[in-house]
Amino acid sequence: MGHIVAFSFCLYIASIRIMNESIGILYIVPTPIGNLEDITLRAIRILKEVDLVLCEDTSVTQRLFKAYDITTKTSVFYAQTGIKNIEKALNLLAEGKSLALVSDAGTPTISDPGVLLVDRVRKELPDVQVIALPGASALITALSASGVTSSTFMFYGFMPHKKGRETLFKTIAEGSHTSVFYESVHRIEKTLESLVATLDTSRMVVIARELTKLHEEVVRGNALYIKEYFSTHKDHVRGEFVVVVSGK
Ligand code: SAM
Repeated sequence: MGHIVAFSFCLYIASIRIMNESIGILYIVPTPIGNLEDITLRAIRILKEVDLVLCEDTSVTQRLFKAYDITTKTSVFYAQTGIKNIEKALNLLAEGKSLALVSDAGTPTISDPGVLLVDRVRKELPDVQVIALPGASALITALSASGVTSSTFMFYGFMPHKKGRETLFKTIAEGSHTSVFYESVHRIEKTLESLVATLDTSRMVVIARELTKLHEEVVRGNALYIKEYFSTHKDHVRGEFVVVVSGK
């Protein structure tokens, strides 16, 4: 009886594969956030097998491709203003092509415009499979390095530059959960000033900088300590940052 069930299940999977042969597949493929070794075997295989890779900056993606002998065609999908070539991607998927979406670093769609493509595919091409691969993300790497509980956390993406910025810092100060956000080198010092102004000294702030890269560092302490650390180590105000704040 068990054999019959197993055999029928295999037939079912095989028939799905055959049926899907002319249906497009969109793979969401995470790439390293610094260290080129941080990519899965499956991600490399998918990048080799798909018809086209949608990327952000061709030169960044080509560096990865060179390291892993990937020769698949690429097409730029992200622009300064957001996503471009979305119609082209949708047409290719509707024709049954397999595409992989990558970004310059980490998991596409997490705080990057790739989410717009996934949304449109799911709405407009329900037969197209969307397969997300697990892999590197600055968010999860920072949280796991921070030593701050992640059993409940709120991820804010990038803090707004102006409107709503101060309100968000107040929200973080009021939160009983861990807060995480991305910050750029241009605003990290301003952000540390806002954290000093809004958080009491019992709150742990963790700055995860240049994760997986040569100058990786994780600095922990209260907001005042962290602000002073970066104002006395100006040469560390460089690279990419994730900020983690413990809950109230
Ligand atoms: N989707 C990506 C991910 O899952 O990691 C994040 C993309 S977001 C456009 C880029 C931001 O991620 C950077 O500004 C920085 O805040 C953070 N980031 C990316 N790589 C990082 C690294 N190696 N170390 C620290 N932060 C990093």
